[in-house]
Amino acid sequence: MYLISNREMLLAAQRGGYAVPAFNVHNLETVQVVAETAAAMSSPVILAGTPGTFSYAGTDYLISICHEAARKYRIPLALHLDHHEDQGDIESKVRAGIRSVMIDASHFPLAENIQHVRETVRLCHAFDASVEAELGRLGGQEDDLVVEEGDSIFTDPVVAKHFVESTRIDSLAVAIGSAHGLYQGEPKLDFSRLGQIRQQVDVPLVLHGASGIPESMIRQAIELGICKVNVATELKIAFAGAIKEYFAEHPDANDPRKYIVPGKLAMQKVVEEKIRICGSGGCL
Ligand SMILES: [Zn+2]
Repeated sequence: MYLISNREMLLAAQRGGYAVPAFNVHNLETVQVVAETAAAMSSPVILAGTPGTFSYAGTDYLISICHEAARKYRIPLALHLDHHEDQGDIESKVRAGIRSVMIDASHFPLAENIQHVRETVRLCHAFDASVEAELGRLGGQEDDLVVEEGDSIFTDPVVAKHFVESTRIDSLAVAIGSAHGLYQGEPKLDFSRLGQIRQQVDVPLVLHGASGIPESMIRQAIELGICKVNVATELKIAFAGAIKEYFAEHPDANDPRKYIVPGKLAMQKVVEEKIRICGSGGCL
């Protein structure tokens, strides 16, 4: 029914002082959990898929499932291209109906990053799709994207201003110490850097790698201008963990209608918790 861009969602979050959670989904069941929970809590929500997810599930399938979820629960949903790098790939997905895009050209030198992002913005804005881009480089691993810790680069606040103005992006993913995947020990976020970025840049800011970041730190990041919080790994761990437990107790189980249910319930608890931490419940 309606798959929307995340532009208005994030601007509303920026005005309201909360963040919209973006949950990585993979298939029918994970879309059901996220959409149903967000609807029950009246929370705006973003459903994100990496290129690997769209290849796995099929772009048309995912679009159709998300359309149906938006219709069934009567909520606007942003189906979001997470960490997409290839412009041809982005174009075909936007033409297929997706209106929320992240172009990740952060591995290029600044001038090339700007050029790639600018071209993507031109294309996406023609379809009224929103564009997020990353400046700096997050460490860790998300799908095939692996960045060694020594190769991660924090976002420079002054360069961020130039980047946003040159590209006309709708939101900026910042590198302030969060990482994809699981943290070894307590994560450290550079809040003073985040504050400086906020002073330079007025578009909504995005925190990637939020799995495993304590609630107090996420709340502080939101106070300093984070309007979108990405969660992937924690959902996978909850989903898989509950299914593993189910099989440990029922080694002969073979009915997906039964063994997937505890996975969905465990994932639902994480989604509820993140919506609560983001402060987005009741904001629809
Ligand atoms: Zn990410």
